[in-house]
Amino acid sequence: MFIAIRELEFRPLDFREEIRPGAIDLGPDIEQKSPLEASGHADLVEEHHGKHQIIKDIRLKGDLSTRLQVACARCLEPVKHDVTRRFDLLYRPQGSDAGHEELSVTDAEAEIGYYRGDGLELEDVLREQVLLALPLKSLCRQDCKGLCAHCGKNLNEAQCSCTSVEEDPRWIALKDIRKKLE
Ligand SMILES: [Zn+2]
Ligand SMILES: [Zn+2]
Repeated sequence: MFIAIRELEFRPLDFREEIRPGAIDLGPDIEQKSPLEASGHADLVEEHHGKHQIIKDIRLKGDLSTRLQVACARCLEPVKHDVTRRFDLLYRPQGSDAGHEELSVTDAEAEIGYYRGDGLELEDVLREQVLLALPLKSLCRQDCKGLCAHCGKNLNEAQCSCTSVEEDPRWIALKDIRKKLE
C-alpha cells in the first residue's frame, strides 16, 4: 500500500492491512508464521520553514502484530516470537534537513525517518518496525547450552563425549595416529 502525499493533502488516511507470510521480505533468518496485522493512521504534517518553505512530512501512527520464528543464537533450534509494536513515526522528504538543522520537530515523541519522491510504501515501514521489534539475539531458553564446538551435538539434548577443555593440537595428532592404527 502506497501512502501518497497527494492523497494526504486531501484527507488523512486510515489503514488496516493483513499481510500474509512471505509478502514482505524479512531476510533469510526470519520466518513469518502468522499474518501480519497492522492498522493505523497517516497524516500530513506541514513544517513551516521561514516564510516561503513548507516541508511536507508524513506522520504514521499505528500498531502491528505477528508471529515470527528465528534460530536460537546458540543451538540454532527454532524460537518463536509473538511480536507486537506500537509506532509513531515522522517521515520527512529526503534531503529536507540539509542545512536546516533547527527545523521544529512537531512532536518529540515521534521517531524520524525519510521518504523519497511522492510518498511512502507502508510495507517498507512495517518491515523496519518488525525487525526493530525483534531482540538482537534470540535464545530458545535463558540457559541454552548451545552446540558442542567439536562435534556439533546439541548439548541441551545430550552431553557429548568431547572433553570440554580445548585440546592440545599435539594430542589430537596423536589420537589421529592411534585411530589409524586401530
Ligand atoms: Zn538454544
Ligand atoms: Zn562434542
